[in-house]
Amino acid sequence: MELLIQDVLWQGRRVDVAIAEGVFTAIEPAGTLEPTPSTTCLSGRHFLLRSPFYNTHTHHAMTLLRGAGEDLPLMAWLNQRIWPREARLTSELVAAGTRLAIVESLHSGCVAFNDMYFHQPAILRVAQEMGVRARVGLMVMNQVSDHIENEAALALRPTLPKTLNLCLAPHALYTTTTEQLCAMARQSEELGLPIHIHAAETLAECEIARERFHAATPVRYLDACGLLKSDTILAHCCHVTDDDLALMAQRGVTVAHCPQSNQKLGSGTFPWAKARAAGVKVTVATDGAASNNSLSMIAEVKAAALSAKLGASSPEAVTLAEVDEAATTVAARALGFANAGEIAVGREADCILVDLRLPAFAAGNNPDADFIYAADSSCVDTVICAGRIVMQNKVVPNEAAILAEAREAAAWLRKESV
Ligand SMILES: [Zn+2]
Repeated sequence: MELLIQDVLWQGRRVDVAIAEGVFTAIEPAGTLEPTPSTTCLSGRHFLLRSPFYNTHTHHAMTLLRGAGEDLPLMAWLNQRIWPREARLTSELVAAGTRLAIVESLHSGCVAFNDMYFHQPAILRVAQEMGVRARVGLMVMNQVSDHIENEAALALRPTLPKTLNLCLAPHALYTTTTEQLCAMARQSEELGLPIHIHAAETLAECEIARERFHAATPVRYLDACGLLKSDTILAHCCHVTDDDLALMAQRGVTVAHCPQSNQKLGSGTFPWAKARAAGVKVTVATDGAASNNSLSMIAEVKAAALSAKLGASSPEAVTLAEVDEAATTVAARALGFANAGEIAVGREADCILVDLRLPAFAAGNNPDADFIYAADSSCVDTVICAGRIVMQNKVVPNEAAILAEAREAAAWLRKESV
């Protein structure tokens, strides 16, 4: 065994957890597993063991654009603030912004992201360096398209470790043509790559679907283009009809629910309870840091639960277990990491250690509820991804250098911008 977590709280009991070759090899009552001379031992005495989160919709390098263009409507925000800055991006800037986003994500106990952004080889390289999981999208978007490096990313496909994979990520129906979306659907079949796209985010998008594309709804339009498939991820889905939800369930698509971005941009409310009743798979995502502005998955999962409960006017609209499973097991599967997202022998070893010495956990009635509803990123002590420690003692390796690099990159982008 390479790694042994001793005497950790897990599902209400104290256990020892052994990890070797990237998988959980044993979970036994505390005090029963013996380390070998080469085993790295972690004391779990003060910690809660949990599955980490898997973030299903991100634009990670937008950490550099955080705070640019507050309080604007989506299209004005994109046109006036975001796209002019993005026009000046380079591969190095995207790497710097992605590193910062991964640091923040790890602090909130998240090991994976589903990225739709430019200079994709840089994103893949950074994710691999920092030891996290990522799905990176080959983009189609008729704005700031100079920075799209689809072919270079596709060329890397045979070399990617199993913690990284690709998908096709046409940006949205309002930044693409019907021909482009239909071509993406064909390419998805040819290359065996899933689809990731923004869908039904705002009422303005619904209007574009009707007026420009003569479709009843954005979801109907995307289906007509052939994009709704069992491994498709639709981000947002604030404006979906009962018919849309039935179709989404039939096709087997997964929703990346982005409650804080939806609230902050006033986009709308994804109807979680209705979606579940229709049989639609739901996961939770932060969206980019320029529209959220936090990348804390703890905060996002809490917001997802709150928005579902408020939207349905019922505390029973979504349970703690359901929201937890959505952001862990369901999300890992949706991102193509089918053997991760669950702490069990034989599963890929992704887990976090949560510091129970903090005030949020003092009462101790339900530590998992305390984690989601009462704590924040300061409680995550250690993060393990595919058997490797990627954050320990609340610090990511090279964290200070990553922050310094991001400060410099953001300052450069800010110069001469509005
Ligand atoms: Zn987005």
